[in-house]
Amino acid sequence: MELSPFLSVDTPITFRDHPGVMSALLYTNFHLCNLNCYQCHNRHHFKGKPEYQSYTKLSKKLVMFKALGVELVIVSGGEPTLEERLEEGLRFIKEQGFPIRLDTNGTCPERLEKLIDIGLIDGIALDVKIPLLDEYTPDQLKRFKRVLFSGEDLDDSAVYNYSKLVKSTIDLIRRYQLPYTIFRTVNYPLLTEEDKRAIQEELKSLPHQFNPFYPVEEDDG
Ligand code: SF4
Repeated sequence: MELSPFLSVDTPITFRDHPGVMSALLYTNFHLCNLNCYQCHNRHHFKGKPEYQSYTKLSKKLVMFKALGVELVIVSGGEPTLEERLEEGLRFIKEQGFPIRLDTNGTCPERLEKLIDIGLIDGIALDVKIPLLDEYTPDQLKRFKRVLFSGEDLDDSAVYNYSKLVKSTIDLIRRYQLPYTIFRTVNYPLLTEEDKRAIQEELKSLPHQFNPFYPVEEDDG
């Protein structure tokens, strides 16, 4: 049985993830990500080898989504743009008649542009995790390395590179104006009020929201 690039885990159906739109979530490998954000729940909750669902099972799920009135399929991860077989998975969903929103950390603008160009996505949820500045203070670098990589022992260029790539992704999103698009920032305790204002300023004409920060429980590892 051929396997899809989506994990064999529960598929939440919700109105909250894309406000007011009944959406079902599929996930690429939770551990396939080029960031290691502060208290990433997916990394903590899901250990071990990923198990993928077959296309047969996925097809049945999509039929069920239709019957339930699901309007949008959201593909999240991990970082879905790092999944090699993403195109074939997205194409399969599109063939069942669903629009797709892709959730991304914004660090792969080239792959994202290709997906838009070939008509496989109808929206993007972009997580903007820190202010996207040209210059950072030593204190900001220290905090932002912890937000993005859960540690301080990295070259400063890692933060600058993140900022550059996410800015390119925002430019891309502005150019294409896909209908199911939102921008989000987790309210990390490592962000100051000034940081949050800078993020809001950068995204002021765009649909942006702050999401609550939920610490990982001790027992979750
Ligand atoms: S980008 Fe998302 S999946 Fe990747 S480490 Fe950060 S929170 Fe986790």
